[in-house]
Amino acid sequence: MSGGGTLAMFGGDRAVPRDRARVEWPLIEESDRKAMLRALESGVLVSNAEGETEVAGLEREYAEHAGVGHCIGVANGTVAITLALAALGIGAGDEVIVPALTFVGTPLGVVHAGAEPVFADVDPISFNMDPAGAAAAISPRTKAIVVVHLHGLIAEMGELRELADRHGIALIEDAAQAHGATYEGRAAGSLADLGCFSLNATKNLPTCGEGGLVTTDDPELARGVAMRRQFGEDTGGSRGRSYIAHVLGWNAKLNPIQAAFTRSQLQRLGDYDRRRAENVGRLLGRLSELPGVTVPSCPPDRTHAFHILRFRLDPVAAGLEDTAPGAFRQALHRVLRGEGVPVSRYQLVPLPEQDVFREPEGAGPDPASYATTSAVIEDSLTLQKRHLNPDAGAILDLYADGFEKAWENLDAVARIAGSAASGGQNAGRPVSVPEAAAG
Ligand SMILES: *Cc1c(COP(=O)(O)O)cnc(C)c1O
Repeated sequence: MSGGGTLAMFGGDRAVPRDRARVEWPLIEESDRKAMLRALESGVLVSNAEGETEVAGLEREYAEHAGVGHCIGVANGTVAITLALAALGIGAGDEVIVPALTFVGTPLGVVHAGAEPVFADVDPISFNMDPAGAAAAISPRTKAIVVVHLHGLIAEMGELRELADRHGIALIEDAAQAHGATYEGRAAGSLADLGCFSLNATKNLPTCGEGGLVTTDDPELARGVAMRRQFGEDTGGSRGRSYIAHVLGWNAKLNPIQAAFTRSQLQRLGDYDRRRAENVGRLLGRLSELPGVTVPSCPPDRTHAFHILRFRLDPVAAGLEDTAPGAFRQALHRVLRGEGVPVSRYQLVPLPEQDVFREPEGAGPDPASYATTSAVIEDSLTLQKRHLNPDAGAILDLYADGFEKAWENLDAVARIAGSAASGGQNAGRPVSVPEAAAG
């Protein structure tokens, strides 16, 4: 089915009926429940217990999945970045380059290690850190690059490795959105000095709450992370805890019950990835037919984990010469939400413009240094979370119907955009647009 005439915001039928709107994520199966019960009933409820714990089991299995020598379970993805930097000896007085377009957890992880985030612009197509932008951000104080595989697509690791090596600095992957993605056949988390993952319930590999993982091939770095997740104690010995803190540590351990849940989910990750890629591929195929929509793409040397789907929206290519990109995006946001298509924005401003990072007038980075980030945020909408469900194919088909319906009504979209731009309220019945949580 396609078309369907009048937009829902003007009284027509929704493209996505209300009773079809809910999609579950994470998917909780009987095996997940059993795994958690097994952990609960084992009586081993701390990750630093002796012997084989659920945490150690997950660490071993994820290291194998990512093709690395070591994996360390931690409390969340943000602290994973902090511990990775601290294990490298990076802290006060050091600069760390991060992309201007990412979740705030990336630069916060840097700040909590005591270092200063420096923002680099992103590429207009991959949305990942532009190696040229990273090169421009390097100073004598730069000690590391934290590259983000944004939305599930692995960044330009070859060029970034070369850049990091040329300057003698570390390279860390923020792979919080990229579990299972590959680059030249190698998995996310195996492509830099350390890899940082989130297991937050909204991610591709979820736990039933909060969690994180750090991956590395370097046994010394692995030990450095493991010490810092547990108060700075040396956890390498076989004789239990020493209760002596050798370095400045955190309490950033992973809960065994949550580790058991993720272990169970990890067994289905590959199957889910394949089914998601098929469902998403069909959606992207249909949306790419609409003039003015640029859908996510993936270079042939990579696989995309499709954590988030970002669509850039070009009014001129859609035939609306007089509509500004921001107004077009805003109008489509209202129209698509009205149709039941749960589009939302991912990041409302570039990271350097978030209050916490904003510097006094004139002291911050030149907005021209992150111009692509600003443009991408201005002209794009995202789909989040629902498409992670491997059975979401039918609902994604309805989302495609909703987009097609909007494109059949572009004259109305233009009118709404015009009235939005002039602040008018006369573009028909107003539809409230609740913002989906972006994490
Ligand atoms: C989710 C996320 C984080 C933070 O992970 P938490 O487990 O929520 O702390 C960091 N970076 C990126 C890119 C993320 O998507």
